[in-house]
Amino acid sequence: MQPEILFDPSKQARYKGTEPLWISPEGNLLDLEFEAEFDLKKIANRKPDLWRYREAIPIGHDEHIISMGEGFTPLLPLSFSGKTVWVKQDQLFPSGSYKDRGATVLISKAKALGIKHLMQDSSGNAGCAIAAYAARAGIRCDIYLPASTAETKIKQINASGAQVFRIQGTREDTAIAALQAAQSSYYASHCYNPYFYQGTKTFAYEVCEQLGWKAPDTLILPAGNGTLVLGCYIGFTDLMKAGIIDRMPEIVAIQAANCSPLSDAFHKNEHPASYFPSLAEGIAIAKPVRMMQILEVIRATQGTILTVTEEEIKNSQTLCGHMGFYIEPTAAATIAGVEKFCKGFERKTIVTLFSGHGLKK
Ligand SMILES: *Cc1c(COP(=O)(O)O)cnc(C)c1O
Repeated sequence: MQPEILFDPSKQARYKGTEPLWISPEGNLLDLEFEAEFDLKKIANRKPDLWRYREAIPIGHDEHIISMGEGFTPLLPLSFSGKTVWVKQDQLFPSGSYKDRGATVLISKAKALGIKHLMQDSSGNAGCAIAAYAARAGIRCDIYLPASTAETKIKQINASGAQVFRIQGTREDTAIAALQAAQSSYYASHCYNPYFYQGTKTFAYEVCEQLGWKAPDTLILPAGNGTLVLGCYIGFTDLMKAGIIDRMPEIVAIQAANCSPLSDAFHKNEHPASYFPSLAEGIAIAKPVRMMQILEVIRATQGTILTVTEEEIKNSQTLCGHMGFYIEPTAAATIAGVEKFCKGFERKTIVTLFSGHGLKK
């Protein structure tokens, strides 16, 4: 395995992965260059978790891996709007959301770097995931949250022994407080830190393997900060580079109509200064840090962005509940998008997910 390189595309600058960087010294976003390798025979004989793609994840030594047996979630065929859609059961992760994909890789990297203290900010699930994996790693963890965050999520973070800082004001005020704290600590950010995406990309690997090493036609994914959208793009790009698949699925991103900066920029080139709260708090992100990258990825895959109303979110949550699936409103927003997409577009293989467990709310 060749070591990974951190890459600042705006300056064309490169840094070694042995440096504890989550952003460039000039404050630019970093991407990660790494050649993912896949040995399909070896993979088939490994445990059903996301570390089965060991040679595709840039952690040098096995002893640094912090794992709770996460990943390789079931891919179930379910019927929505009269169509069969493949739904990854990512509500079944240890902390209750797919954010554990990013957390297991990012915290393993922090362990490899010898980090003793880290911090993170989140509207909920990313904080729950980072706090849980930091606890497994024995790394001290501070989580910054908007004061309005759901009590169940705060309780969950507290249970991991992390210190919670509740910030008054908007989600953006929390982000500003976190950036200040990041001056003196390692920022385990799901938005900035490129290692998080090296975890979320495993969603693509699992889908591909579970479909018989084939790419689906369409991926319908939630988009707030775009950790899954960008992760899937990285993952399917890795699979194409390795010659396992020969086409990229289209990515259809779902946003809440109440808070839809990606949709507004994509369809109307508009950039409203403020938005409304949404039941789908996990995707109600007014200023996604990697906005330009997300829009590029949607365009590159010839995908699109759909929005769903608060009522559609509620109805979808009820529908999923009546099918036996207990998911949180943010996860229901994606399914509302699935229903909308299936009514308007014909596709053979559509993949989506339940992104978070209902017990969260
Ligand atoms: C974080 C989250 C999302 C959205 O992910 P982004 O990376 O912000 O685009 C969707 N559903 C749930 C349950 C989440 O926790």
